[in-house]
Amino acid sequence: MFKRILIANRGEIACRVARTCRALGVEYVAVFTDADATSPHLQGATAAVNIGTGPAAQSYLDGERIIAAALASGCDAVHPGYGFLSENSAFAAAVAAAGLTFVGPRPETISALGDKARAKALMGAAGVPVVPGAGDASDDPETVEHMVQSVGLPVLLKPSAGGGGKGMQVLTETTGLREAVASAIRVARSSFGDGRLIVERYIEQPRHIEVQVFGDSQGHVVHLYERECSLQRRHQKVVEEAPAPRLPADVRQRLVDAAVQGARSIRYLNAGTFEFIVGKDFQFYFLEVNTRLQVEHPVTECVTGLDLVEWQLRVAAGEPLPLPQDSIRCHGHAVEGRIYAEDPSDGFRPAPGSVDEVRWPTGVRVEAGVARGGAVPPYYDPMVAKLVAHADTREQALDSLRNGLGETVLLGLTTNIGYLRRVLADTAVSAATVHTRYLDEHGERFAQRGSTGCAAACAAAADLPVSSALSPWSGAAAHGLLDRASLDPGAPWGRAHMWVDGHMQSVAIEAPVQGGWRMAIGDEVRDVHIAEVANGVWQGVTGQAPWVAARRGSLWELQLDGDRFTLLPAHARSFDEEAVAGAAVAPLSGTVSVVPVSVGDRVEAGDVLAIIEAMKMEHSVVAGFGGTVRSIAFAVGDSVKAGELIVDVEVEELKPA
Ligand code: ADP
Repeated sequence: MFKRILIANRGEIACRVARTCRALGVEYVAVFTDADATSPHLQGATAAVNIGTGPAAQSYLDGERIIAAALASGCDAVHPGYGFLSENSAFAAAVAAAGLTFVGPRPETISALGDKARAKALMGAAGVPVVPGAGDASDDPETVEHMVQSVGLPVLLKPSAGGGGKGMQVLTETTGLREAVASAIRVARSSFGDGRLIVERYIEQPRHIEVQVFGDSQGHVVHLYERECSLQRRHQKVVEEAPAPRLPADVRQRLVDAAVQGARSIRYLNAGTFEFIVGKDFQFYFLEVNTRLQVEHPVTECVTGLDLVEWQLRVAAGEPLPLPQDSIRCHGHAVEGRIYAEDPSDGFRPAPGSVDEVRWPTGVRVEAGVARGGAVPPYYDPMVAKLVAHADTREQALDSLRNGLGETVLLGLTTNIGYLRRVLADTAVSAATVHTRYLDEHGERFAQRGSTGCAAACAAAADLPVSSALSPWSGAAAHGLLDRASLDPGAPWGRAHMWVDGHMQSVAIEAPVQGGWRMAIGDEVRDVHIAEVANGVWQGVTGQAPWVAARRGSLWELQLDGDRFTLLPAHARSFDEEAVAGAAVAPLSGTVSVVPVSVGDRVEAGDVLAIIEAMKMEHSVVAGFGGTVRSIAFAVGDSVKAGELIVDVEVEELKPA
């Protein structure tokens, strides 16, 4: 076994590899960048080497620097993790040329399989079923057009040098063929430096099922069963599981046999994943081989009870495979959910940020790459953690993962936790009837956040003293979301106004309830319970939804059922006297009939800011002080409730009308 290895990666996978090193007594050297100087992956390392500035091209993708770091720190091997240089055959060769061991397949295997056209040819020759298509790859538009015609529509154009689902295009009709081909070649060239495309028959509504294989230097090859990864968003996996549900035993056997046969044919070394798509008729077709550890390897570890990183290190060190095929078993069911720092409600835009608070769940396996006080830099993949649930049945594993996500707290970041929870609660997901386009076709409803009104109710409850003996207005416990200026006789305990991500929201405080408050948001009544307040973090539940809140200055951050909301007091960014003074509040419930001002307008004390119609009478809302209109919460025709903030004026001088 190696004495010391360099882990050429960051984040959760670097932490994961380090864990096995510690278990095996192998020393490890970590690498990091200026953007990563306090990351958890440096913990426990014999040495940590700065390999450059934030952007990956100047650090994690710089093979020379990484090899120099490995040599300088006395390593005898390099583990590449996934991503970055893990499937770069030149890097694998350079590692070997420097006298180090690359923990992965041989460089020639990586380069042969890294090209989709070559990989398909190799596997086809080994008797593995491949997707019907044109044999070769080409970057000549006319040739590609002929290929499309010979394969027959619908087809999928794929960059031969591609990966990560990028640059693929489905063609269902001949109109616009020329432009589509030209554009796909351009995209392939700009994304992968290689414009060659392969043309495949497009398999309708396929499932993605992959087989984990392992080979040793003695030429043995085994499989560690399959994983299903059909829950993808734009070809990127979101939730993965093992074993594949609803797969007939004979199909499963043929699938794993095909993978082993393909791997044996090229004397595959170390960990590899044979990816297949499976049609509705259970016909399966080889897609590609990933020549590295996969993000989703933990589900295989859970069901087999094996440590795949340990296997990688043993095999790389020249040892034989730890177990023969007939000693490798599959127990129970495992499901993994990938937590990304991204905003599902904004097109899944990556959302770097700070990690102000982290609480991981118990009862599921957690693979995390972030810790409290850290950050998610903008330079790298936005995946911050994975949760993996393992149980006797699939149903239990799905439930356990959903609960684990519900217990997860990540403040300072916008994440897809709420999205994942909604996906896992979906009936088609429970029934395992999904295909690889399911999330793209039905994703809208999973991406929709929970209600801002409910978020406001939770934050208002956190802002109130818990004791029912107190009036909400009596104590110093009100931190700013609650607003004396808008005390409303229509709401028994008053009303709270706040901006929830830019939307004005009003909450009526109805009554104290056991450990919390009953709130009304319009007609919706909610009991919000507070379970715990510790270290400036409020934690509770409303209905089935867990929530967590924390306050920074006058800003509240709330994670409600996994979705993130930020809340500000109605009047200001800082809850000061001027700001309170500028709030023009509806004197009674009614309909807004006139709003004569616009944002940015100058107003004087006494100016009309809005007119509310109620019971056939008009009531003017006037400015109490002169200033500039900062925001208008309602439009003409909107109905407002008594006490709701209508116009917010930035007051210049406290000179009342
Ligand atoms: P990449 O290397 O870019 O990830 P893959 O060839 O592995 O590309 O394909 C990624 C995903 O695209 C698959 O998981 C599957 O969902 C879909 N896909 C690939 N090929 C086909 C095909 N011929 N028909 C239908 N879907 C496909």
